[in-house]
Amino acid sequence: MNQPIYSIIIPVYNEQENLLEMYKRLSIVMEQLDGDAELILIDDGSRDRSLSMMREFHESDPRVRYLSFARNFGHQIAVTAGLNHAQGRAIIVMDADLQDPPELIFRMINKWHQGYEVVYAQRTSRKQENWFKRFTAYIFYRILQLLSDVNIPPDTGDFCLMDRQVVNVLNAMPERNRYIRGLRAWVGFRQTSVLFERDPRFAGEVKYTFHKSWVLAINGIISLSQVPLRLATYLGLASAVIALLMICLVLYWRLSSLASPLIGYTLITIALFFLGSVQLFCIGILGEYIGRIYEEVKGRPIYTVKEVGGLSALSQTDNSRHPNKMSL
Ligand code: UDP
Ligand code: MG
Repeated sequence: MNQPIYSIIIPVYNEQENLLEMYKRLSIVMEQLDGDAELILIDDGSRDRSLSMMREFHESDPRVRYLSFARNFGHQIAVTAGLNHAQGRAIIVMDADLQDPPELIFRMINKWHQGYEVVYAQRTSRKQENWFKRFTAYIFYRILQLLSDVNIPPDTGDFCLMDRQVVNVLNAMPERNRYIRGLRAWVGFRQTSVLFERDPRFAGEVKYTFHKSWVLAINGIISLSQVPLRLATYLGLASAVIALLMICLVLYWRLSSLASPLIGYTLITIALFFLGSVQLFCIGILGEYIGRIYEEVKGRPIYTVKEVGGLSALSQTDNSRHPNKMSL
């Protein structure tokens, strides 16, 4: 196959129930595109039949290429690996569970032809999701907007089309804390949205556990903002003001002989616990940043690869033991 025009990247983590249906629907879409397309499946350390299904797809259809991580590295890293290996001029990122309808790709490509470098899919409603997810997402994006200059449009995920120029910039970013939708907003260029109704998951369980979503949220804030680091300064100033008021109050009590030892003990206990928790909270924030600095300084590869199929543009991080699978 010639150099493809389109690359479709799909991160896969234990999605054996979805892969066949996804492949069928995507093949129909790929047939109708106005140029060659490659489908890059990233196996994020699945323990089910996902990887063997990928091998089968690749053997029967050379447009399908795959890469398998040596363990589970997480969705954002899987997308990163896909971006590293994509060869197309327009790169589309979507989920494996058919929540992102493949047919939307046509509308994204239309916008791309109109000259937009980033076309992200925006949900018209979150009706399918429970109130807890909607509420936490709402609060999170508000906080993020408050804390950073980067504006992530509401109700968008990682489902998008990006021009080669944008992907080149993303690939040149060396950081390992990768919050893709944040970086995508950060790079600039001409960006637009296409609206869609998000379908429910075709089959299988949600792979984003509460813990994974929490880590993603913290990574998002830390990768886009340094404001939390200033929190210690603000809290310090606020407690200095409170301390001044307290000094005046205590002096007044002392002089007016209203003081009772009981009030004194109560105040000391409250102050001790309050200041203790504020300090621990601030150290915790420092820790989040320092931990990430440590991760960056170590300079380990962002992911490790155990097997590839049909992908030639291997990055330095690959140490595949299956070189025969590298050519088409
Ligand atoms: N996924 C992944 N690694 C993970 C978790 C999820 O590659 O550790 C993939 C998963 O297979 C799916 C996509 O990321 O293709 C989105 O996951 P999911 O549907 O569970 O989350 P949602 O965004 O729908 O809540
Ligand atoms: Mg999903």
